[in-house]
This record gives sequence, C-alpha cells and structure tokens, in this order.
Amino acid sequence: MRDLIIRNGNLLISADHETLVRADILVRDGLIAEIGSNLQADVEVLDVAGDVVIPGLINAHLHSPGNFMRGTLEGLPLEVFMLYEVPPLASGVEAPEAVRLRTLIGAAEMLKLGITSLMDDAFFVPLTTRSSIDAIAGAYKEIGIRATVALDQPIVVEYDKYPFLRDLLPDDIRRTMELAPRETAEGMLEHYAYLIERWHGAAHGRIAAAVSCSAPQRATEDYLRALHGLARKHDLPYFCHILETKLQRVLGEEKYGQSLVKYVDQLGILDEHMQVIHSIWVDAEDIAILAASGAVVAHNPVCNMRLGSGVMPFRSLRDAGVPICLGTDEAVSDDSHNLWGAIKAASVMHALAGGDYRDWPACSEILSAVWDGGNRVMRRPSPVGRIEVGAAADFAVLDANSPTFQPLHDVRRALVLCEAGRSVRHTIVDGRVVVRDGRLTTIDETKMLESLRAMEPQLRADAIALRESARSLEPYYRQMVMQAAVRDVGFTRWVGK
Ligand SMILES: [Zn+2]
Repeated sequence: MRDLIIRNGNLLISADHETLVRADILVRDGLIAEIGSNLQADVEVLDVAGDVVIPGLINAHLHSPGNFMRGTLEGLPLEVFMLYEVPPLASGVEAPEAVRLRTLIGAAEMLKLGITSLMDDAFFVPLTTRSSIDAIAGAYKEIGIRATVALDQPIVVEYDKYPFLRDLLPDDIRRTMELAPRETAEGMLEHYAYLIERWHGAAHGRIAAAVSCSAPQRATEDYLRALHGLARKHDLPYFCHILETKLQRVLGEEKYGQSLVKYVDQLGILDEHMQVIHSIWVDAEDIAILAASGAVVAHNPVCNMRLGSGVMPFRSLRDAGVPICLGTDEAVSDDSHNLWGAIKAASVMHALAGGDYRDWPACSEILSAVWDGGNRVMRRPSPVGRIEVGAAADFAVLDANSPTFQPLHDVRRALVLCEAGRSVRHTIVDGRVVVRDGRLTTIDETKMLESLRAMEPQLRADAIALRESARSLEPYYRQMVMQAAVRDVGFTRWVGK
C-alpha cells in the first residue's frame, strides 16, 4: 500500500531549488527510498508523464470545528467574530457523526488542493468529549491525510479572557457566563491523556497529538505549565494564539502588565515546541524573545485581513531568525482551507509595510514557510515538505498543461503567484495515492455530500439561531473593542489610514 513508483515527474525538490528535476521517485513503506532515472521495483507505478511534482503542502494552522460555518459572517474584529463562532453561553453535546462529516469536508477540500499535512487546533462547543476527539482523529485516519490534532479549550470564565468586559457587562449576563459549562484543567489533562494514548502515532504515524492552550489569557498558569510539561515529555507541538489583535496587546498591559509574549516567556513555556499563532501586535522586544526561544510563528494572512487584525511584521520576524509557517486558520475566517490563497496573500500583503521594496517577501521565502516552517512546527520523526531520501512520501502532482505553467518562467513564482489549486491532479500521502485524477480514493465523495445535503437545513437553522443569541451580547463586545482600539500602544499594525 505504501510502496509506489512515481514515474516521469518534474520534481521541485524543496523551496531552495530554483528549477525542476526530471526523475522517478521510489517509495517504500511511506518514505522516499530512492530518487533517480528509470527506477524499477515490483510496486504500483503512477506515471505522471512530465507533470510537476512538489512536496505536499502543509497547512500549519486551522480549526476544523469551523468547517460548517464558511461564508456565514461578514467581516468582524476577532473578539466580536468569536462571539458568533464559539458562543460563550452554548450548551448541549456535539453529535459524533456531524463532527466526523465536518472534519471530512475540510480534509477532502485540502487533499484535492494538494495539502497533505495539517495541524488542527480543534475546539469543542461547549465541552470536550472522547467521542468528538475520536470523530475528528478518526476522520483524518479514514480520509488518509497527515494530521496533528490538539484540543483548543479555554478553561476560564468568558469575561476573564478580555480587558474591560467584566465591567461592561450587566450583572445578569456576567452571572450567566459564570454558570456556563466550562472545562477544568484536570478534565482537560484527562482528555489529553486519552488523545495521546489513543491517537498519537496512529495510522502508520499519520495521526499525531499536539497540545493547545488556545491562548494564554484563556487558561490558568498551572494549566499552561502542565501543557508545556506534556509537550516536552512527548515532544509535541504546543499551539498558542498570541497577539493576534490590538485588543490582545491592551489585554497584556491590563491583565499582566506586559506583553503576552513576555508573559509566556516568564512562565517558562515559550520554547521550540511552541507554535505562536499570528504574532501581529508584537514589538521589537517581543520579536527578540521569540527569536531566542526557537518557537515557530504561524502566519494566517487571509484570516488576518478578513478580521482586520493587522499585518504581521514578516520582515522583522525573518530578520530576527524567527521561523514562520503558514495556515488558513478557519473555514469561517478564510473562508476556505485553500492554502494556495494564503500563499499568494502572504506573498503580496507585506508590500503594504512599505519601506525598501527589497524587504518584501520573495516567493522562495513563502514556499519555505509552507514546507520548512511546516516541517519544523510539526516535529515529525521523518521530515515532511521536501523530496529527499528518508522524507515522508507526501506529494502533490500538478498538471503541467494547466494555465499556471503557460509559459513556465520560474516554477516557484508560478506556484506562489499563479496557482490557485486548480492544477492539482493527484495527491499522495504516506506513499498512498489518496487523490487520483481529482477524485478521492479513500472515501465515497458522493455519499459524503449526500450526508451533508441532508444536514444542511439544520446547519442553516443553527447558524441563524447562533447569530440571534450572539447579537444580544455584541454591544458589550463592540464597546470593549472600541475602547482597546483607541489606546496608544506605541506602534500600529494597521495600514492604509
Ligand atoms: Zn486560530
């Protein structure tokens, strides 16, 4: 199953290579065993007849629980957006079949776009359950993608995640928030024990666990440290949203008397395991701390623009030596899992920083973020994101006759600037052809879509109900966001005013 020859490919070996190399690839047991001419072995052969073979893309940050919400919301700042996305007063239990389907929908989209690895910072509304963990990880196992899954579950009262909100809310809403279902650190650590025991290394190592605190202000210090202990013990990535918005910069000043980067550093949890998600409202001191820590920053450019969060200081982070990986964040804030869109956005949005145009990202840097940054943050035993002997056999095969390559001047620029995912013909994960000629081989797509059609009326009704309940809270959140927006924090990450 995991032995394969990919014959007659034009290979882009890695982000460091400028040109394509004509060669065959021999895969043994899910790993690249040999690269050369006219390779022979008694295994399945996929003749790609001159098509372009690249390392599979790595979507280094997303939240699959948003998969059913794409296109539900207009542009909103994060804190108002989250009201609608993760309702603070929700109750009930998620149905495992809906969770499975939701996860499959996103993974199917990604595989057909040549995305072979993902990191899912999965949240659970309102509470984490083993059945939901199994439904998510099981769906990734079933569809054949490489997936790292964490449990993104805040454990503090809703108003404590923000500055000003406690005082802005009326007593009755405050009380309701205090009584809303909420996880505890002990409960979450039990869920993590289950996730790691049941799923870490499952499906020939394709499925792995990560830990997530969601964000430092959404957890307690003990819990933040306990997750760090797990990350070190099992060598897991540690997901942490940090300084995504200006409000979070203000929150750091109000709640901790310092930036959130300094806060996590002082707690002793900022190290090479940590994936610092967003890192937009960081100042020069924060950037130096991040560089010294070895942490990897996850850049989500489309989401950042969609939610008006600001422009991540790409060049300053790169110059300081901070590794960067790339993600789509959410189907409700991108509104897709199309990493190609994020790739193009990342390559063009940093021109908005102005200054010396030689500081703007090169296409090779963006591909390096996808493959090298993604590989670094995934912390897998065998490398992903490059075509070399010993690396994971994860590839996307792109139609050499697609408009992207007509004519072909520079393959890296073609991929970053011209490609939108339409050229992907085959996708291979762990040596297995999971998309062949644009169709998934691992699941019945028609059946998946029929199940979704059947669920659609309920999904629409739920979305409307959610909007109505969130609307009553929005005025308080809006006031909070406005109060933070006018604070002078000494710099800005917004442009164009
Ligand atoms: Zn996120």
